[in-house]
Amino acid sequence: MTDTQYQYIDGEWIEGDSDDEMTVRNPAVPDDPLATFPRADREQARNAVNVATEASETWEETTPDERDSLLYDVADLIDDNVDELAQTLTKEEGKAISSSRGEVSRAAEIFRFFASYARTATGETIPSSDPDTFTYTIREPLGTVALVTPWNFPIATPSWKLATALVTGNTVVFKPSSQTPMIAKRLVELLELAGIPDGVVNLVVGSGSTVGDELTMNDGIDGVSFTGSTGVGRQIAQAAADRGIPIQTEMGGKNPQVVLPDADIEDAADAAIGGAFGLTGQACTATSRLIAHEDVVDELTDAVVERAESLSIGPGMDDPDMGPAVSEEQDETNFDYIDIAKEEGATLLTGGTRPDGLESGYYIEPTVFTDVTSDMRIAQEEVFGPVLSIMEASDFDGAIKMANDVEFGLSSSVFTADMASARRFANAIEAGVVKINGTTTGSQIQMPFGGMKASSSETQKEMGQTAYEFYTHEKAVYRTDP
Ligand code: NAP
Ligand code: MG
Repeated sequence: MTDTQYQYIDGEWIEGDSDDEMTVRNPAVPDDPLATFPRADREQARNAVNVATEASETWEETTPDERDSLLYDVADLIDDNVDELAQTLTKEEGKAISSSRGEVSRAAEIFRFFASYARTATGETIPSSDPDTFTYTIREPLGTVALVTPWNFPIATPSWKLATALVTGNTVVFKPSSQTPMIAKRLVELLELAGIPDGVVNLVVGSGSTVGDELTMNDGIDGVSFTGSTGVGRQIAQAAADRGIPIQTEMGGKNPQVVLPDADIEDAADAAIGGAFGLTGQACTATSRLIAHEDVVDELTDAVVERAESLSIGPGMDDPDMGPAVSEEQDETNFDYIDIAKEEGATLLTGGTRPDGLESGYYIEPTVFTDVTSDMRIAQEEVFGPVLSIMEASDFDGAIKMANDVEFGLSSSVFTADMASARRFANAIEAGVVKINGTTTGSQIQMPFGGMKASSSETQKEMGQTAYEFYTHEKAVYRTDP
């Protein structure tokens, strides 16, 4: 295998057939490309679907024991290669090496957690109204699923989709982000090494508008799980709805952290910093709005600005607090939104420029705006970069109203010492994840994950105890014995 073979179809590593080349860049050193290779074309995506469809007949017959031991082996292989995988991830995506290590280890944990589904993702027996009829449900795989993923958690997100799809007996065509094909390839190489049969997992690396589009439109695809932007997710959801197949879309966020007057301000400031600037703000659950009660807004603002100014910035391999933005496109988006916020009348408190001495990569200082109001674009639109907007509320109800006054509804947080206020917040907030005295970012594998409103199709949560439901048909069986 040479390093231009990024397509894995029917157990073979091959080159993409399109005339179009993909160049992978290290966002810390963009002038020095990491890899260049031809993208897959539509025909290869079609071929991958055909192969996966054929493989599904034998794969769905495998026993729970076979499936879970394979997934446990994948987990072990990931663990055995943590350092190398983390380096690949950091070079390609830019995040700090300790974050990459954490993500890679989490991918192993994800495979282990979902391996357990092999024996527990069961149907039910249900009391029957007719004594002569036995009523129960069974779960069957959908068949062949397309998995389309973004770049920001480029091993964890594919892992939770792959593990859930495979353990429930589905075959897969996986299309990773064009920003992060190298880590995707390494993950599939480990699946191959663990002994995944030919055709069960196929990787096509190509552009969203050709290969991604083919995967959502192809008649051989029985379900699509997508994570990415709301614009693309909605487009895919529409195509899937036309074809009548299950679709799961987890999309953007504009996540609020609300700070009430009785909160521990130091803790609230630490959480806002971690949530807004950790992973360079490139998390779907990143904190982008800090909504503070007027009694504590000044103290909180000072604490946040002081901390933001002390963060270290640099290449991910140096393990800074903040690495570069992933790409030139994201870099431009970050600076565009800083201009937009200034034009709208928000006050820049800190950041907003490229740090001195880091002119060559896609770096930006942690940026904090205040005097932000809900009618501003900076309060409404996802930046996906390290830009935090501070907003002031005069009471609890005003804070909730402000928090909910966006199209998104992914994650949220409240800081308060009063558990009655916390409970009211959890009930009133329009978000799929609610943190009480914690950052909007971060989640546990065994908890359901997903958003509301424009953040999610809300078809089935990923992670948690019932994520397998998306990847299965449920049949209700009535058995009357002759
Ligand atoms: P994106 O531009 O929407 O891309 C996501 C994936 O969709 C990529 O693999 C992309 O391929 C593909 N794609 C693009 N156009 C397509 C089309 N017409 N048909 C089929 N596939 C298509 O998102 P991104 O820039 O990679 O990631 C950032 C976004 O993801 C943010 O909005 C973030 O909030 C969201 N996100 C959400 C969650 C969550 O769980 N809610 C988690 C992480 C990230 P190409 O790369 O080739 O364009
Ligand atoms: Mg994109």
